[in-house]
Amino acid sequence: PFDMLIIGGGPAGASAAVYGARKGIRTGIVAERFGGQVQDTMGIENFISVKYTEGPKLAANLEEHVKNYDVDIMSGQRAISLKKKEFIEVELENGAVLKSKTVILSTGARWRNVGVPGEIEFKNKGVAYCPHCDGPLYKNKNVAVIGGGNSGIEAAIDLAGIVNHVTVLEFMPALKADAVLQESLYSLPNVTVLTNVQTKEITGTTKVDGITYIERDTGIEKHIDLQGVFVQIGLVPNTDWLGDTVERNHFGEIIIDRHGATNIPGVFAAGDCTNTPYKQIIIAMGSGATAALGAFDYLIRN
Ligand code: FAD
Repeated sequence: PFDMLIIGGGPAGASAAVYGARKGIRTGIVAERFGGQVQDTMGIENFISVKYTEGPKLAANLEEHVKNYDVDIMSGQRAISLKKKEFIEVELENGAVLKSKTVILSTGARWRNVGVPGEIEFKNKGVAYCPHCDGPLYKNKNVAVIGGGNSGIEAAIDLAGIVNHVTVLEFMPALKADAVLQESLYSLPNVTVLTNVQTKEITGTTKVDGITYIERDTGIEKHIDLQGVFVQIGLVPNTDWLGDTVERNHFGEIIIDRHGATNIPGVFAAGDCTNTPYKQIIIAMGSGATAALGAFDYLIRN
């Protein structure tokens, strides 16, 4: 069996693999797509000590760093179940069953798409999902935020401090965000809130130039010229495959303690698939290191 088996090859998993391998223990990593969400990212300007890099380059660097150690890398493989027996057993889609003394879950998350024309075409060309990442790129520009829940309103408040103007589009007749956030939002001079509207299309030629929506009560279609659209209708953790084994919160995020431990002894978790606040590369890497050290601590005590 492995001493440490990592499921997921994004920043969290890669970091855990390096920390595990450096302890001289038998370490393996299973990744459906090495690099994870980083593969889908264009410019990265908040990976501290690296002023600017690009997703595919950082993903290649992650893999290269892991390959520098004696880690069994199983790329293109998808985990479909986890069971705790004498060892922890992880079953792969190809039928293989991997056994390990400890497991680190780092399967990440994915942004929920609005599914309107223009969204996929203009991803990274005006369609964005992360205000912490891409907000500064829209300095002095006009943007929309789709979604009036807490993350949408937090994003709108955040962006209002950077960009020229923010329009919030909420499908329901009222915003769903906490009252304090709404109060703070309505106090801002450069924000417009549209409720009861359905986004119809994100328009553009080579990049985003506007958004078209329908007023749901009148059926009237309207268009706003703008340069960016932030989609904020939820981040979904990739944890369905765990069935009812590992404890999760109502968002589906794996619940971990300060050491990255889950409710199952020997099973740890890190990164965007957990209930760690704020989903960022640097945070995922830090939590990957924490989980690996937590798992190592568990190994030497059991
Ligand atoms: P992920 O990166 O999601 O990696 C998950 C890994 O698990 C992948 O290898 C995946 O293939 C694998 N996996 C999933 N399910 C399974 C399974 N069942 N079996 C096997 N493997 C599985 N953050 C920043 O700090 N700065 C930025 O500028 C920035 N820009 C972003 C731009 C975009 C478009 C997106 C989508 C995100 C951005 N982020 C940015 C957020 C950042 O990418 C994430 O916080 C980070 O990648 C999370 O790392 P992770 O390792 O937890 O998960």
